[in-house]
Amino acid sequence: MPHEAKMMKAMMLTGIRSMEMRETPQLEIEKDTDVLLKVAAVGVCGTDMHYYKEGRIGGQVVQYPFTIGHECSAVVEQVGGKVTRVKPGDLVTVDPTIACGKCDQCLIGRYNTCRDLLFLGCPGSMDGCLSEYIVMPEDCCFPARRQTSLEQIAYAEPLSIAVYAVKQSVPLENAKVGILGVGPIGLNVLLSAFDQGAAEVHVTDKLDYRLDVALSMGANWVGNPDKIDIVSEITAMQPLQLDVVFECCGDQEAVDQAVQLLKPGGQLIIVGSLKVERVSFDLDLLRWKELTVKKTRRQSGCTQAALDLLESEKINTDVLISHRFAFEQAKAAFDLVDRYADGVLKAMIIFQD
Ligand SMILES: [Zn+2]
Ligand SMILES: [Zn+2]
Repeated sequence: MPHEAKMMKAMMLTGIRSMEMRETPQLEIEKDTDVLLKVAAVGVCGTDMHYYKEGRIGGQVVQYPFTIGHECSAVVEQVGGKVTRVKPGDLVTVDPTIACGKCDQCLIGRYNTCRDLLFLGCPGSMDGCLSEYIVMPEDCCFPARRQTSLEQIAYAEPLSIAVYAVKQSVPLENAKVGILGVGPIGLNVLLSAFDQGAAEVHVTDKLDYRLDVALSMGANWVGNPDKIDIVSEITAMQPLQLDVVFECCGDQEAVDQAVQLLKPGGQLIIVGSLKVERVSFDLDLLRWKELTVKKTRRQSGCTQAALDLLESEKINTDVLISHRFAFEQAKAAFDLVDRYADGVLKAMIIFQD
């Protein structure tokens, strides 16, 4: 049956720090395992900010116009013939990673390092979710309870990154932990670390407002490395030093501090996108303490755990989701995060029905 191409609105990057609402053909279900989703809320992520401010992350270069966005909740609009996980009307959180399911990495459950990976809102891969509709395979859709807010459901995505990072570390039961950098990812690591039984968590950041939030979330100690020597302060409190340090700011200074703060046999987990392309390590200290270093890449298999954690009401995202913008005002959300203004943590873009 012939039909006119339906159009939808998408907020597209059109240049450095420039973004416009454009009309584009509405996506349609192609495979019988596909789900057509009406986007409900989208979180602004550090990754998106790189595309917004610099037009690239390493070799991933934006070809304008391009729709970014990968942290979203959505309502199921239509499902392919073989879909069983979700039904129209379901509110879902979306795992933005589409793994091939066939390569050596997928076959051992390492979907995040799939050799043929597609990623929502990644240049050269697929358009993002700053649009009215997206199409994803059913495996990427995780149904939520209705009573939870659209923003909270979208928040499962950035939380899953932290749940995964914490899972990569030694068992945190009774562990002494450091978190260097508490933007949204670092704060999520704080939530996950306590959820996994961490005994004491020491937090650093150069923005005092973030330290206040970390304290309100139960951090045992906070310090600003621009104002104090955080290595000597933490070591004075913890003479045996720390079991695990999560480096969540991606710079050389924090990597050096992490290596100095860890106890022998300790573990450095580097989470999130890096500010620089290279960092160096004090190899002698790394050898002396026999440290393990791991850089995580996004997450694998932790979306449901993140959603469960959000829905458990053990955690409260009210303080984390600091700002809300309408779809039409998406650029204002990006500009706010760009300036770290107004105590911003996670800015969410909410689509009206
Ligand atoms: Zn993200
Ligand atoms: Zn694969």
